[in-house]
Amino acid sequence: MSRRKFLKTSALGVGGILLAKCVSGAEDKNIVEEKVVAKTTNKPIVISTWNHGLAANNTAWEILSTGGNALDAVEAGVRVTESDAKNRSVGLGGNPDREGKVTLDACIMNHENECGAVAFLQDIEHPISVARKVMEDTPHVMLVGKGAYDFAIEKGFEHKDLLTPEAKADWIKWKESEAQKKPEINSENHDTIGMLAMDADGNISGSCTTSGWAYKLHGRVGDSPIIGAGLFVDNEVGGACATGMGEAVIRIAGSATVVELMRQGRSPKEACKEAVERIIKKHKDIKGLQVGFLAINKNGEVGGHSVYAGFNYAQKDNATEEMKDAAYEMEW
Ligand code: ASP
Repeated sequence: MSRRKFLKTSALGVGGILLAKCVSGAEDKNIVEEKVVAKTTNKPIVISTWNHGLAANNTAWEILSTGGNALDAVEAGVRVTESDAKNRSVGLGGNPDREGKVTLDACIMNHENECGAVAFLQDIEHPISVARKVMEDTPHVMLVGKGAYDFAIEKGFEHKDLLTPEAKADWIKWKESEAQKKPEINSENHDTIGMLAMDADGNISGSCTTSGWAYKLHGRVGDSPIIGAGLFVDNEVGGACATGMGEAVIRIAGSATVVELMRQGRSPKEACKEAVERIIKKHKDIKGLQVGFLAINKNGEVGGHSVYAGFNYAQKDNATEEMKDAAYEMEW
């Protein structure tokens, strides 16, 4: 009779290990081996898109490393980027649309599938915090435009002009250039921050915030405030976020797709790669169309993948503080 093995595993909490019990088959069923498989859960941990993720992660880490929760961490983390006037793709100092208006998109999601979002929001420095208020103080998921602005003011947020002199000067230059005839996305004119964190309790939350595609049509909304596109979290499985051309991400329900692929057993890396392959398959013309996905699973394993080279992400946990280059399908 061939030897059969049954594996019974159980996870053991913070920094836990997986204990494997190997029970052999009928001929020697009294022999029970117990061995340590040494599978650790990497938590707390925070990851976020692009170089601006380093500073954002540091703020999130102050919360995570002192026993705070993932939701507070992902809100506080991306607020750093929203306030960075030098960053031209998020919040204050973000590039405006074709009309010279800075319009912001953001969303946030916690470990209980609660979520909030704002889109086409103007003159408010922290769209992520308004998104959280939508989640916590209203029965809705998304507010847009003037309604989102009025709600923010009612909640005590301050009106602030977000168009910096530098961003305005570039917009004027762009208006006088050939490029203004067609809105184009490239590696210089976008870069959302998407952040995913798992706290010491093993709960995952995510946030995503952007000024979107520079010089977009007035009224355009990208993937970043759309739950399931720019961000998705399912605390049973993991979380994912996206950056790059939002229209392409929306077409494949990008972040929800990555999470569902992880649910089916893919690693974060494999799931992000498969979502990128789907983007490539579903677009007749992929030239210059950059999209990157970033994901984390319940073990604290992390992965990213993009259509073109150049997408990177910041990771911070007990062992690591670094930028990592994501794998990709094509060179520019
Ligand atoms: N995904 C964002 C948008 O389409 C832009 C970006 O991440 O580069 O608005």
